[in-house]
Amino acid sequence: MICRQIPVIKIRTSGAFLRDPLYNMLQLRKVKVSAKMKYVLSPEEIKEKSVDELNEILRDLFSFDYFREQKENNIRVTEPFRADGLNRVLYKCPHCLSEGKMIGKGTKLSCGGCGKTWEMTETGTLQAKDGKNIFTHIPDWYAWEREQVRKEIEAGTYILDIPVRIGMMVDSKSIYFVGDGRLVHNAEGFRLTGCGGKLDYQQSPVASYSLYSDYYWYEIGDMICIGDASALYYCFPKKGGDIAAKTRLAAEELYKINR
Ligand SMILES: [Zn+2]
Repeated sequence: MICRQIPVIKIRTSGAFLRDPLYNMLQLRKVKVSAKMKYVLSPEEIKEKSVDELNEILRDLFSFDYFREQKENNIRVTEPFRADGLNRVLYKCPHCLSEGKMIGKGTKLSCGGCGKTWEMTETGTLQAKDGKNIFTHIPDWYAWEREQVRKEIEAGTYILDIPVRIGMMVDSKSIYFVGDGRLVHNAEGFRLTGCGGKLDYQQSPVASYSLYSDYYWYEIGDMICIGDASALYYCFPKKGGDIAAKTRLAAEELYKINR
């Protein structure tokens, strides 16, 4: 909701993602971080515009591609660990289509299924070792993964079903670890059961457009968070696996289909 009495100001950082991308295990790179402030809309302009026009302006403001900016501005990330954990984002091999077998280590991303290997360059692009590039721009690979998830949903084959450790947030003081359970995500949405039968929470696909899932959350592990105003459930996969990105993509595509 926009209050029409005050202006809209945007402050955007540049370089923060390149300095500390979440997939990279909280390892810092030597990249300068800066911020720019922009006066976007005056109170008068807000009054004149429709809600759709305002939403369009806000949508454009929040659209960005840090990898493209890195390449265009030739920002070099020379650290030898820059591809560590990249498999969290690029979890599916576009060559053999296997999932969960990607390994991001050092400056390389490789597939444990077919052996295809990519070098992550200092400017954030990918170069296939065999010279046969599929995606050189990481967001293009990610967009392809979204299409693949969408196809699974439409074919009725999409499912996540994993054992998890469960942390609950019911106040502003702490996350309380309450036990183990099972997290299922499919066309019906999420269902979390556990704690010796005491917990059974379901969440519709239209409850939220996006999903709060994160990599290496507070150094505990990759995490998927669901819940409502009364409780949030932080689910940590017990067997690991690169499920945070795929589940988020699936949640977004399920929302779009069901709306
Ligand atoms: Zn492969």
